[in-house]
Amino acid sequence: MRQPDLNTDVLVIGAGGAGMYAAIAAAGQGARVLLLDRSLIGRGGATVMAQMTVSAATADRHADHWEYHLADTLAAGRGLCDEGLAALLCEAGVECIEQMAEWRVGWARDGDGLAKVQAPGHDRPRCVYVDVLNTGPAVSRTLRAQVQRIPEIRRLGDMMATEILLRDGEAVGAMALDIASGRCIGIAAGATIIATGGLTRLYERNSASANMAGDGYALALRAGARLRDMEFVQFFPIGHLAPRMIGMDPLMWDPFRYKLGGRLLNAAGEDVFAHSDGYSTTRDVTTHAILREVREGRGSPAGGAFLSFTHVGADALRAAFGPVVDKLAANGIDLTRDAVEVSPIAHYHMGGVAVTREMATDVPGLFAAGEAVGGASGANRLSGNAITEAFAFGRQAGRHAARHAARRPAPATLPAGETLAQAHGPDSNPVALFEALQILMTRHVGPLRSAASLAEAQAGLAALGDALGQAPPGRPGVHDPARVDWLDLRQALLVASAVVQAAQTRTESRGAHQREDFAETLPQWQHSQSQRLRGHDLVLEAVA
Ligand SMILES: Cc1cc2nc3c(=O)[nH]c(=O)nc-3n(C[C@H](O)[C@H](O)[C@H](O)COP(=O)(O)OP(=O)(O)OC[C@H]3O[C@@H](n4cnc5c(N)ncnc54)[C@H](O)[C@@H]3O)c2cc1C
Repeated sequence: MRQPDLNTDVLVIGAGGAGMYAAIAAAGQGARVLLLDRSLIGRGGATVMAQMTVSAATADRHADHWEYHLADTLAAGRGLCDEGLAALLCEAGVECIEQMAEWRVGWARDGDGLAKVQAPGHDRPRCVYVDVLNTGPAVSRTLRAQVQRIPEIRRLGDMMATEILLRDGEAVGAMALDIASGRCIGIAAGATIIATGGLTRLYERNSASANMAGDGYALALRAGARLRDMEFVQFFPIGHLAPRMIGMDPLMWDPFRYKLGGRLLNAAGEDVFAHSDGYSTTRDVTTHAILREVREGRGSPAGGAFLSFTHVGADALRAAFGPVVDKLAANGIDLTRDAVEVSPIAHYHMGGVAVTREMATDVPGLFAAGEAVGGASGANRLSGNAITEAFAFGRQAGRHAARHAARRPAPATLPAGETLAQAHGPDSNPVALFEALQILMTRHVGPLRSAASLAEAQAGLAALGDALGQAPPGRPGVHDPARVDWLDLRQALLVASAVVQAAQTRTESRGAHQREDFAETLPQWQHSQSQRLRGHDLVLEAVA
């Protein structure tokens, strides 16, 4: 047993869109909140990096209803969405978008209503934005401002949660590593929310920030919670590949396609789709179309497809993206003359912690929100749904965690927990091992998989697990990035194993999971898989 260093009603781990929304909602119920992030508050993770659009069926300009949005979400999910979660996303999402407008996020307007663009998989223009390439920063800034105004929310940056603490099977808080000092901090909480985002840093080519290697999934597993749908990693099909660009985002071509179309071509100059898709095809289908061109020898020189805007006039390009066109020119790219090369890049995770509609996990006192949660998107996510999910699930988790904490206050003492962050192992190079992990996942667990590739991945993960050793290198109690890297790697290896195991078992192709040895989508596989830890073993179960 130990005395807690900090004590709160609701502990929120992760201060992206979901975590900040959860903190605001929990404080709104009268709870004291501790909002903790391994980065600066509101500046780590994916939310601040998101650039484009946010989907919500606000009916101000284009007649719409959240049930139409739900129908599109379910269709994109290829039969695997948890309908209750998907409905929550679509229905509560509308209120959150309106609340964000009241908080002055600055959604772009068109006449009397919100401006909306059409995104792939949506049946009508449904995606709001602040300003192309600036939506995420505006969302983060708005939520940070709200969080700062609420005295009941205490913010703590540079704190990495390393373990959920349990007593009699219930979550009673967490251990965190104060990254700057190397100290381990025990936090007692009435309820704890995991809002740590996704896992795409497991892959070599990704759109992730440094903090997105799946910490939250590992925290949940080790606490006894279930994960679901872990095989479904979304690849963004048109990540920039070549020529080299400096100071520009690899996802930048999506807004170009929103506004201008753009042709996706193979090495022979043929459309990758039999009929030019007009930017309506969902991400899974486009990803696989590009990769099949590459496999069949019709890829671009750098190993992707060409994205061409040469049919769009210089005036139209400048009218839509003037400042960006200048930045491209500085990189030697002239879109009126040259096509660029693009290829799929790991971008989002459909799977995650299994929760109820109240965002409660199987572990009493433990909740989850945002990209950390699995189920709403099934086997494939609609573009624009992730930020809406962060808002809607964050708000829901905050409310329900506060109610739980009101019934069950933070304990006066904490269990000792594992002492890994205080242990001292032999010297090692976790960064090199992490790079090996990323290469392994990219080669063998990308969008196209097979029994052979997944077996290679499984063997590689076992070898990396052996190389990891039992304890982090360096001395405890001092600032040491190598220890943080080791702790990251330990969590990432567990999460990668969950992805591989779920992908091995699903012997069909569906959405983001395509098996080269099982190409069909099979009715008997129209169910999710969930996983939990029993001792050191990951155990997989089917969920109807
Ligand atoms: C480049 C990019 C562009 C995108 N564009 C769009 C878009 O246009 N529209 C859309 O809908 N979606 C978009 N997405 C997806 C969307 O941004 C995310 O799914 C969503 O923002 C996730 O929000 P979140 O709060 O769940 O997680 P995040 O915003 O990722 O926040 C998670 C937080 O948890 C912290 N954290 C992680 N581990 C720990 C730990 N152990 N201890 C403490 N803190 C921890 C991280 O530092 C981070 O601050 C984009 C994603 C990326 C990467």
